[in-house]
Amino acid sequence: MDERMAWRVSLHGGHSGEFCDHAEGTLREILLAAVQAGYHTFGVSEHMPRGADRFLYPQEIALGWDMARIEADFARYAEILPVLVEELAGQLIVLRGFEAEVVPEANYAERIQRLRAWQMPDGTPRFDYCVGSVHYVHEIQLDGPVDAYLQAAEACGGIEALAIRYYETVAAMIETIRPEVVGHLDLIKRNLRAAGFEPEEIATPRVDAAMQNALEAARACGAILDLNTAGWRKGLGEPYPSPTIVRKASAMGVGFCFGDDSHRPTEVGAGVDAARIYLLQCGVQEVTVLTRESREPLAPVVRRRVSLQG
Ligand SMILES: [Zn+2]
Ligand SMILES: [Zn+2]
Repeated sequence: MDERMAWRVSLHGGHSGEFCDHAEGTLREILLAAVQAGYHTFGVSEHMPRGADRFLYPQEIALGWDMARIEADFARYAEILPVLVEELAGQLIVLRGFEAEVVPEANYAERIQRLRAWQMPDGTPRFDYCVGSVHYVHEIQLDGPVDAYLQAAEACGGIEALAIRYYETVAAMIETIRPEVVGHLDLIKRNLRAAGFEPEEIATPRVDAAMQNALEAARACGAILDLNTAGWRKGLGEPYPSPTIVRKASAMGVGFCFGDDSHRPTEVGAGVDAARIYLLQCGVQEVTVLTRESREPLAPVVRRRVSLQG
């Protein structure tokens, strides 16, 4: 196991059918797939509950779920994490995370702080880290139905304004919750073409300035950017973020770590080898990973810079 390459770390993914409507497999199956995929460290970042029934996905409603059910599932997730960390300890370093949401706008920050402060009976934190992601602008979902994306653009006064508002929301989220990892920084591109827009429409100086502010916020709080391979799976032809953003972030000293954003066992490890090449081609020679300082199941989490050449 010590030959497992130290750069082979994912800090965003491990969504499972046990706790998420749009994922498949159990968390144990996901973690066994992570062992098979040769990961050194695998951070699990299930979606945190979205706080109010109005944010339920259509599929969740069809399943008869409500937010109380989702809260209960998330609590079960938090309970089982330390059990699995211990069970897998000889094969894989598992980190206990969650993916944050910026809804409801009125209280997301408090709800996230509560999760970050949540302790196990022995007084240690329940979670090792959090992935800060923005999936909503003005509480309208960006990575779901194209109709919602169009509605978000309309609410902002156009696609350029939506992209600016998106990056402003990312910057505010980073400054507010100070996440260890920032998820899929340019998620705004996800539904762009499907909604009838062209990449040039959000490649403007104003959008670029808002994006740079988000990068500056990440740099200021030492957040790591998720080099998220789901962009390839979603047919975007590139991961998140784009080469231009990777180069800018890297020049500013912002670190990257891989995220397979897996939602089923077959997606665990997907795209990570290609993502390593991608980073090298963008001039990034090392990743910044979170891992444990020893092989003890719940040893403290440390941050390390690891060469991609290893
Ligand atoms: Zn998901
Ligand atoms: Zn996400």
